[in-house]
Amino acid sequence: MSSSVALRLPSIDGLLRHPACAPLAERYGREALLSGLRQLLDELRLSVLQGQLSAIEISPEVLAGRVGERLTQQQRSNVRRVFNLTGTVLHTNLGRALLPDEAIDAVQMAARYPLNLEFDLASGKRGDRDDLIEGLIRELTGAEAVTVVNNNAAAVLLTLNSLGARKEGIISRGELIEIGGAFRIPDIMARAGVRLHEVGTTNRTHARDYEAAISPRSGLIMRVHASNYSIEGFTARVPTAELAELAHRHGLPLLEDLGSGSLLDLTRWGLPEEPTVRQALLDGADIVTFSGDKLLGGPQAGLIVGRKELIAKIKKNPLKRALRVDKLTLAALEAVLGLYRDPDRLAERLPSLRLLTRPQADILAQASRLQPAMAEVLGEPWQVSAVQALGMIGSGSQPVARLPSAALCLRPQVSKRLRGRCLLNLEAALRNLPIPVLGRIDDDALWLDLRQLDDEPAWLAQLPQLQVES
Ligand SMILES: *Cc1c(COP(=O)(O)O)cnc(C)c1O
Repeated sequence: MSSSVALRLPSIDGLLRHPACAPLAERYGREALLSGLRQLLDELRLSVLQGQLSAIEISPEVLAGRVGERLTQQQRSNVRRVFNLTGTVLHTNLGRALLPDEAIDAVQMAARYPLNLEFDLASGKRGDRDDLIEGLIRELTGAEAVTVVNNNAAAVLLTLNSLGARKEGIISRGELIEIGGAFRIPDIMARAGVRLHEVGTTNRTHARDYEAAISPRSGLIMRVHASNYSIEGFTARVPTAELAELAHRHGLPLLEDLGSGSLLDLTRWGLPEEPTVRQALLDGADIVTFSGDKLLGGPQAGLIVGRKELIAKIKKNPLKRALRVDKLTLAALEAVLGLYRDPDRLAERLPSLRLLTRPQADILAQASRLQPAMAEVLGEPWQVSAVQALGMIGSGSQPVARLPSAALCLRPQVSKRLRGRCLLNLEAALRNLPIPVLGRIDDDALWLDLRQLDDEPAWLAQLPQLQVES
C-alpha cells in the first residue's frame, strides 16, 4: 500500500448519520452503537496510520458491518441452551433435571403475578412458604413435616447446625465423602459447628462402633449416602432401622442425607434401586435430606423432611432465612411433586424419568437415522457409526450403574499421533455451533450419546454449519 495516499478514518458523526448505521441504532440503541464505533475506530487508527488498510476496509459500509457483528456478540446472553449428548442425564454442570411443562407454567405464573408466597388466603394472615408444599410432601413421603432450602448442601448444613451445634456428630468413616466442588462432609460439619466423631473403618462399620462413641457430648448420629463412589468386597454397614433403634435408645436423632433420594421405587421402571425417602423414614431416620433437581426431577432445592419437633427447631434457626428458596423454585417444586400423585403417568410427564427410561432400541434407531447426515458433514477423514453405548444417571445416583444407550461414534481415520488433536478440534467445532453440542471423548473417538436428543430438527438444522479445523 502506498503511503503517499494518506487514508483517513471516517468521523464518528459521519458514521452515525450514514444509512448503513441507521438499522444498528434502531436495533441496539444509539449509546451502544456510539461506544461500539469509538472502540472500533480506536483499534483501527494505528493500522491506518501505518498504511495497512485499504479504502474499502475503512468504508462506512464495512465499518458498520464490523460494529454490527460486535453488538450482536455482546447482546447474546451468557446463559445458553446446549445439547447434552454426554451420556450423563442429570449432569450437574449442565443444569441437572429438565422441568416438565406443568412446572414451567407454574414458574411463568409466579414470575408474572403477585402470589400467596407467605400469605394464608384462608385466614388473611401471614403465612409460611413451606406450607405451599408441605401437604404434598407429607402425602408422598409419610413425613410429619418439611422445610425447603436452596439445595441439598444447604439442607445438610442447616440440619447439622440446628440439631448438633457444639455437640458431637457421630458418623462412619465410610461415609466421610466429598461430593463435587467443595462439598465435603467433614468440612460441612465443621462449618455447622458440629464436632466430628468418626467411627468404624472405610469399609466396615458396626453397631458396636457407634455404641462405643456415644457419650454425654453426643448430639446426633449421621448417615450419608455414598453418592459418587462404591465400596465393594469385604464391607459392613449397619442397616438404618438398627441404627435408628440404637440412636433412639440413647435419645439421639438420626439424620440421613440421601443425596439424590427418590420418592418412588425406581425398579418399577427397570432402573437401578435407589433408597426412597419414605423407606428411610419408615426405618426410623428422624430427618432425611435430599435434592430437588436430582432424581426427583425438579428445580434446584434441598428438602428437609421428618419429625415435627425437629423440623420446627430447624425452621427457627436464623440460617434458614439465609438459605430459603425463592418463589419460582417453590412454584416449580409444587408442580413437579403434583405429578408424583399419578405414578402410572410419571414416566411420560417428568422429563428426567422419561429420558432415564428411554429404551435402548429407540435410541439406537435414532442413531442409525442420523448417521448419514453426520457422515456427510464430516466427510472423508471420519468414520461415523451408530453403536450401542453406556451412559449414566449422574448427580451421584448409582455411580457404578450404567444405562444401556446408543451413540454416534465419531472416529478420526488418521495416524495415532494426530488423533488426539483431531478429536479436540471436532469437540471445539461442536461447541461452536449456535446451540453447542457436548459429547465425550473416550477410546480414541468422540461419542454423541443420543439418549437426550429430543429436538432432532434443531440438531439437524445446524449441522451444516459445523466447521472442523484440520
Ligand atoms: C448431591 C449431594 C449433596 C449436595 O446436593 P446439592 O443439591 O447438589 O446441593 C449432598 N449430599 C449427597 C449425599 C449428595 O449426593
